[in-house]
Amino acid sequence: MTNTFHARLINKDNFDPGLYLRFTHQKSAILFDLPDLSNLSPKEILRIEDVFVTHTHMDHFIGFDQMLRISLGKDKTINIFGPEGIIENVNGKLKGYTWNLIENYEGELRIVINEIMEKKKKVAIFSSKKAFRKQSEASFYNTGKIISNHPNYKVYVSILDHLVPSLGFMLEERFRINILKEKLHELKLRPGPWLTKFKHAIYEDKEDTELIVVKQEGIEKHVERCFTLGELKQNIAKITSGARIVYLTDIVGSEANIEQIVKDFEYCDVLFIEAGFLAADKDYAKRTFHLTTIDAGRIAGLLGAKHLHIFHHSFRYKGKDAVLLDEVLRAYKAFCKESPES
Ligand SMILES: [Zn+2]
Ligand SMILES: [Zn+2]
Repeated sequence: MTNTFHARLINKDNFDPGLYLRFTHQKSAILFDLPDLSNLSPKEILRIEDVFVTHTHMDHFIGFDQMLRISLGKDKTINIFGPEGIIENVNGKLKGYTWNLIENYEGELRIVINEIMEKKKKVAIFSSKKAFRKQSEASFYNTGKIISNHPNYKVYVSILDHLVPSLGFMLEERFRINILKEKLHELKLRPGPWLTKFKHAIYEDKEDTELIVVKQEGIEKHVERCFTLGELKQNIAKITSGARIVYLTDIVGSEANIEQIVKDFEYCDVLFIEAGFLAADKDYAKRTFHLTTIDAGRIAGLLGAKHLHIFHHSFRYKGKDAVLLDEVLRAYKAFCKESPES
């Protein structure tokens, strides 16, 4: 699978969970959960446009303040998707500060909160130009499991149980555009920013007659040439199906949760999943509504994950990552014939 995105866990396995994801051809970034963001640079934080929060236990939401601090004064919108109650959680955080000067800042920072429930969602907006007072709360009926729809990807939700609702997320790329390097070479086309424009035009469903200016290697200097989108699609690109990336953490390993995940997501290519406790501590996992290694491996197997990353282990297993992974993989193999690639 070629890499069209970079996804990395923000903190070391035992610490606050969170995933930072960025597509190679896009400036913006996506965040799953809002943990301590100290391991992200200010530049990386400023790229964040969409945040998907599983639930608002402190280890998953403490980074909201860091994101807010870095983004103040900027002209941008941050969309946050989270479970029932997240609008009031954000309202409470914003009310904890004094905003008497913020309306005079040049840039407008807008925070749009999407509160996801079983049959509806609520939306509220907090703007720096209105001193972050809650505005225009509206309710909409959900039309399905898709909560965010972009030209090149969609995000699906699964509402799960952690004694409070905890959301599982799946990002699905619409398709992949693979550039055929040997064809570029044959046609003497130089890679450059035009390739990004070309990809955007495909994702935005532009007409095949649309013209794209391409750098071409001339005998003397580099020259420019115009191609139609259709010509380029036919000659230098191969369109393949997109990857599905699933992020799951802080759920109890109940049959109901596992059934719901398989029903909502069916299968995935890359899975980031909590492996909170070893099998021997399953009673403790149940009491705290977390997954064991066996639950994590079983879910990975049922979803047929090709790439598997485990995280959010209990502090009691510091230095025992290999033992945790071994248990997960054994359970995985019992539920899936193939082995994950990493
Ligand atoms: Zn947690
Ligand atoms: Zn939790």
